[in-house]
Formats: sequence, C-alpha cells, structure tokens
Amino acid sequence: MTAETFEFQVEASRLLRMMVHSIYSNKDVFLRELVSNSSDALDKLRIEALRDDSLGADVSDLHIEIETDKDARTLTVRDNGIGMSREEVVGLIGTIAKSGTAEFVRKLEEAQKAGEAGDPASAEALIGQFGVGFYSAFMVADEVTLLTRRAGESSGTRWTSTGEGTYTIETVGDAPQGTSVILKLKPEDADDRLFDYTAPWKIREIVKRYSDFITWPIRLVEAGAEGAEKDAEDGDGGKPEPEAINSRKALWARPRSEVSDEEYHELYKHISHDWTDPLETIRVQAEGTFEYQALLFLPARPPQGVLSQDRRGVQLYVKRVLIMEECEELVPAYLRFVKGVVDAQDLSLNISREILQQDRHIQLMRRRLAKKVLSTLKEMRKARPEKYADFWREFGAVVKEGLINDPDNRDAILAACSFDSTHDAEGTTTLAEYAERMKEGQEHIYYLTGPSRSAVESSPHMEAFRDKGLEVLVLTDPVDEVWVDAVPDFQGKKLLSIAKGEAELGTEEDKERAEAERERQREEYAGLLEWMTERLGDEVKEVRLSSRLTVSPACVVSDTDDMTPGLRSMFRAMGQEVPESKRILEINPGHPLITGLREAHAENASAPDLEGMAELVHGMALLAEGGMPGDPARFTRLMAERLERSL
Ligand code: ADP
Repeated sequence: MTAETFEFQVEASRLLRMMVHSIYSNKDVFLRELVSNSSDALDKLRIEALRDDSLGADVSDLHIEIETDKDARTLTVRDNGIGMSREEVVGLIGTIAKSGTAEFVRKLEEAQKAGEAGDPASAEALIGQFGVGFYSAFMVADEVTLLTRRAGESSGTRWTSTGEGTYTIETVGDAPQGTSVILKLKPEDADDRLFDYTAPWKIREIVKRYSDFITWPIRLVEAGAEGAEKDAEDGDGGKPEPEAINSRKALWARPRSEVSDEEYHELYKHISHDWTDPLETIRVQAEGTFEYQALLFLPARPPQGVLSQDRRGVQLYVKRVLIMEECEELVPAYLRFVKGVVDAQDLSLNISREILQQDRHIQLMRRRLAKKVLSTLKEMRKARPEKYADFWREFGAVVKEGLINDPDNRDAILAACSFDSTHDAEGTTTLAEYAERMKEGQEHIYYLTGPSRSAVESSPHMEAFRDKGLEVLVLTDPVDEVWVDAVPDFQGKKLLSIAKGEAELGTEEDKERAEAERERQREEYAGLLEWMTERLGDEVKEVRLSSRLTVSPACVVSDTDDMTPGLRSMFRAMGQEVPESKRILEINPGHPLITGLREAHAENASAPDLEGMAELVHGMALLAEGGMPGDPARFTRLMAERLERSL
C-alpha cells in the first residue's frame, strides 16, 4: 500500500520545529517519555483484556523492549501493548489536543527568542510544565517511524516523519501487535559521546534513572552484539539475548528509607505526564482488615487543562496490577489535582465503578486519604511556607470548594486554608491565627469579598475597621462568595461580612457610647433619612446612618440574609435567575458633604438641586465598591453640572 502524506496541525508543527532544533538541554528524557507511553499502552491492554475476553490479544508476555543498533544508528522502543488504530495515530500523534497548546507554543517561541539573548531556562521551565511526550523523540532523531497495530485489529499502520511540517501514513499488513517507535538518531557529535543513544550503558543508565519502577519488564537488546552469534549456535535465529534492565519494584511498597526523592518524582512524572517535580510526596500505609498503600503527589502547577476537565489523577492498583487509571472514587473532587497511586490488597481485579462507589472500604479510604492530604497541607504551611504559598496560589480556590461540598471534613479543610488579611499586606493568615489575634470584645471574624485585594482594601466598608485596628479577611476568589455562607462559624466565632447588616464594632462600653451618640444623630438626621429613603426608594431599601465609615460620604451594604453583588453576578454568569433585592445606603454623619446635605434639606426640602445630590451620593457609593450607578449617563450628567457650577 502506498504512503499518504499529511500536514501536522499548526501548533503541532510549530512545537515540533522547536523539538527538532532542540531547546531542552536534558535530552535523555525522550526515552523516559517513550517508555512511559509504552507502559501506559501495556496497562491499557491489560485492563481491556480483563474486561473483554473476546479481544483475542496475547497478554502472556507483556513487556517493553529497547533495541540499540550502532551500525544503523537507530534506537527502537517496542511494546506489545494496546497499539493504535490508523485513526488514533492521526488523532493522537498528528495533533495536540491538550488545552492551552496554542498559548503554550506562543510563550515557548517568545522564551526561545529571549533565549538567544541569554535566558534558556525559561524555555525549559515551560516545556517542563507542559510536557511534550512522544514529540520529544525529535530532540535526538532526524526521523521517527512509528509502527503500530491495535489489539484486535488485523492490519497495522506505519507513521513516519522528520518533524518538519508533514508526516506520511501507510497501512501495513504484517505489523506485530503493539507499537514500535524507531528513531534514526542524529549524527553523533564527535566530542559528545555522552549522548550516544546506541550505547547500551547509556540506555541502562537512563532507564535506571527514570523508569526503574515501571512495573512491566524493560529489556535491552543490542543488534549485532556477541550474544547474537552465541544464540545463533543455539539455533535461535541469531536473536540476541534480551537483558532485563529495570527492577520493577513498586515504589509504594518499598520502605521510605530505601527510596530517594528523585525516584518518587520520576513516578510522579510517569503518572502525571508533567515534567516538573511535584511539590510534595505523601505516603499512606494502611494495615488491618482492608490493607492498602498509597503514594500521593501535590503538583507544582495545574497540568494543562486538568482543573477545568475535572479529571482525577489517582490510579487504582490491586496487588501491584493497575486496574483503573483515573479513579475518581479515590479522592474527593476538591482534591482533584492530587496525582498518585493507591494499591489495595483485597479488591477483585475486575471490580466495576458501580461497586467501587458503594464499597464501604473505598469510602473509608477516600476519607482517610483526604484527611492525610489536608493534614499535609497544614503541616506544609508551617514547615515549608514558601512551597505552601506556591501551592495555595495555584490550588487554593479548588481546595476551598471542599468547604461547600465536604461538611464532614470542614475543620480539616479550614485548617489547611490560608487567607489574605488586613493584618499583613504581604503574607496570609489562617483562621486559627486570626482567632488568636482577635481584640478583646471582638466576637466575630470579619471578612470582605471582592474582585481583587486592592479593591477590597480600599473599599469604604473597611474604614471604621481600619480605624479601630480590627482585622478583616480579604477574600477575592469567586468561590469565597459561596463558602462563607456554608461555614457557620470557626471555633464558635461567626464569620461576618463587613458589607452586610449593621456594623457593630468595639467593646460593650464602646458600643454603649456609640449607641447614645447614634441616637442623637438619628434624631438630627431623621428628616433627611426619611426624605432620601423616599427619593431613592426605587433603588434602595433604606437610607440609614453608618457606623463603618470614617472618610467616605456613603457606602452601600446588603441586608444580613441578602446575596452579595459578587455572588449575584456569579449566578448571573452561570445563567441563573436571581431575584432582585434592594440594598441599603449608609451615609456618614461625620462627612461635610452629608452635613451640608442635611442643612440644605432642613432649609428647604423642595430645593431643586437636592434630589440630584441624593442621586450622586448613591452613585458614588456604588462606584466606590466597584459597582455601577443604575443610570451611568444620568450620573455623569449630574456630576458634570455640579462641577461646572463650582468653576
Ligand atoms: P501523552 O503521553 O502526554 O498523552 P504523547 O504525545 O506522548 O502525549 O502521546 C499521545 C498519545 O498517543 C497517548 O496519549 C497515547 O494515546 C498514544 N500513544 C503514544 N505512544 C503509544 C504507544 N506506545 N502505544 C499506544 N499508544 C500510544
């Protein structure tokens, strides 16, 4: 059959060009990637064969074989795993479906340009974050051929490319089941023997380093080696004796003291397809009636697309055999960034998802693993604050979803959380630390939600709190709008939004004094308040005096049970109807604008300018919290008229 030529998808082509002109200094990792793909393919075949007897594939000797050929300068990585159909080859190898590829390639090209000016590290960091899998073969090869046949299909597919824009595909009749990737290695650099990938010692070294834990046997064959002749005498057709080069020991089953961090990290990279080291490795050993071992990892960054796709990265093994790749029953959704392995002793090899969901042991395990991750986070914040801060920046918003969805673990989740706070402009605080710092007489934990730290900190609602030195949590993730309503209290202290209800500040004594003062002011302002409430009645529920303002003339607040504007816009963005509820306008009796308004109103309640003034005060209050006056054009016109008169 003749070969057809195809073009790579644009991003794939650009990415490949960069691989061809290799920008990654550690080229050895290409072998890790190919072995990792082969291992996945063997896992998949095994899982499929467990479920489907009619597959007709031979699963008796599943393995990976690496063959070096010095004379031909080729390196072949071969597996007898699941293989790929022709459509899969085109779909998986000719295109890159990972979300964010275009953005990634653009950044990479920029980094590469900058690299010419002396910063190659940024390009490496980017690749590390994205991982390029199969394509990394082009770092070391001029030409790559992939010969594959899917288990259960009769014909195979040969794919060949030099990585320069096009590839060819051909259907072949006699391909063995599984996949072979044949690399025509780039010419050897005379003074670079370290990169001789036809040298068996080099292959052994790389496999030992990156792929030793792979549970499938990895065998090394040297074409034309001495063994070939010896075997020929044995009548074995001249095929050299393969040498097993990985120890295949499950890292999670080995004592902690015997495993290096680097080995753990390589397992993480294999599972996650991430090229960056994880931030933290967590081991769990459970003995007793339901025995299992778990090795969990916290990634440094969300691998592309993972969070939005809601995929979970924990693999389920039963007695060292992988039976499920993304087993969402093992960790709750709010820990979906956790990658790793769980190996259970007493499950059936062909257990179904439905049974897993109902299994009491699995539920207990899931709870225990969640607790362990949360306690690790808590400990990390103390012992390794910088790592924790990195982690929290990337995944904090996801963890906080648990405050809504996992009430049983609420305390453990809260203990793992940290928040921005007015206490420290740079760092974060926990609720426990906040509670310790609470002032005498302070009963509640105060917070304010908003779109950004600076917007929240400069909000008028903050004024009196800042004045009295009361700490306020600054909550800026959209999920904060929701969980604060789901968490009734912390250590018996209520969480209270400073933009809702009446602000009650200070000690009992303070409050009494303030109440007496307010009573006096209320009488003084009664006329104005009543008049304003009526005039602005279409837009506000009530106009009242504020005890939270010191500098600003006015602010808007929500009633205790009402939704905050942030939550309201979140619901709207999700396409949900939200009933309108009017808010409350608070005015500052200590502000000259407000005292002026009161005097003007007392003098002549029907003065023509007065109504415009009331509207302006309300509009300014909305603007100050990042909102919008109901009729911005009218607001601007009123404002312009005033300004004009003042000139
Ligand atoms: P990744 O492994 O990160 O998904 P790759 O570019 O390495 O990205 O591989 C793309 C896809 O091609 C894999 O997800 C897998 O479906 C398929 N693939 C790669 N190598 C093999 C192989 N040896 N056997 C079967 N399928 C493979």
